Amino acid sequence: MKHDVIDILRKERSLADAELRELLVSDDNELIAKLKSQAQEVAVSVFGHEIKSRGLIEISNYCKNNCLYCGIRAGNADVERYRLSAEEIWECCEQGDLLGFQTFVLQGGEDVRHTTEWIEMVVREIRRRWPEKAITLSLGERPDEDYERWFAAGADRYLLRHETANAEHYGRLHPEVMSFENRMRCLQTLKRIGYETGTGMMVGSPYQTVDDLVADLRFIERLQPQMIGIGPFVSHRDTPFAECASGSVETTLRLIAILRLMHPKANIPATTSLGTLAKDGREQGIMAGANVVMPNLSPVSQRKKYALYDNKICMDLEAAESRRAIEEQLAKLGYFLS
Ligand code: SAH
Repeated sequence: MKHDVIDILRKERSLADAELRELLVSDDNELIAKLKSQAQEVAVSVFGHEIKSRGLIEISNYCKNNCLYCGIRAGNADVERYRLSAEEIWECCEQGDLLGFQTFVLQGGEDVRHTTEWIEMVVREIRRRWPEKAITLSLGERPDEDYERWFAAGADRYLLRHETANAEHYGRLHPEVMSFENRMRCLQTLKRIGYETGTGMMVGSPYQTVDDLVADLRFIERLQPQMIGIGPFVSHRDTPFAECASGSVETTLRLIAILRLMHPKANIPATTSLGTLAKDGREQGIMAGANVVMPNLSPVSQRKKYALYDNKICMDLEAAESRRAIEEQLAKLGYFLS
């Protein structure tokens, strides 16, 4: 493959399927080094050397769903379940505010006790107390009305990964009661309402092919989300996929780089799962074009219980320490945290 394919990708913000495929499997080290360095250059041209930070608050590990890959699936009886109270969530925000975070991300399993009204009340109070902050929700699939009411209460952004753009593959990762169509409906609704919308996929999930990843890139190209979160699949011991191999750090980095070249202005995080599989995974993500990190603001006492996969990092660092640790790592690369 000619190396000018990277220049074409950068200029046209797209490539043919066959070329995307080739970039994902190529063993031409120089080509791949060029892919990553061009992506990093584009990220710096858009964002400078600033990395945006989002304070992640894991509000509940109760979940009605049984996604085959996820450690907090309903069927996992070994999880000690917790649900933060409204006051605890606001305390996390308070902490985050003191540490300088401008965005709070409320993430959780699909907890049936999280009624429309309760989340609305929590969001409204955050909006009242911190009018300038961005409020991001990541609470899974809900009826349109919930998304509308939460937006009206002050939520600005919503993260809902599509997980895989191949409906058949989706069916192999999720129980029958869940559907690819509903996930798509949710994403369309979120965009229509006016949320800044984030989507993305796991890399190297069981049964995934290179063609599936190309389909993911095409799906994201059509959706044009403001945020794109991707990370390697990491197995969890108490799931049906316990024995499955984890995803590839290298493939994830190439996808981050390709996505950066296709979507220069998108917010793309260097995810915790990337940092879990490689010690310097998040730094490598930034060197491949990522521009966001999401330090954990959840209470340390509950954090271990929000184990989506095994060996998740930053389980016992206080929010301040984990922010400082990331800040130091970034400084070594010549970046600073927003
Ligand atoms: N219930 C919410 C939040 C899910 S957790 C929702 O459905 O959107 C956030 C993301 O973690 C998921 O979208 C999934 O992509 C990722 N995740 C879950 N289990 C994982 C695993 N075993 N390895 C890597 N990522 C995982």
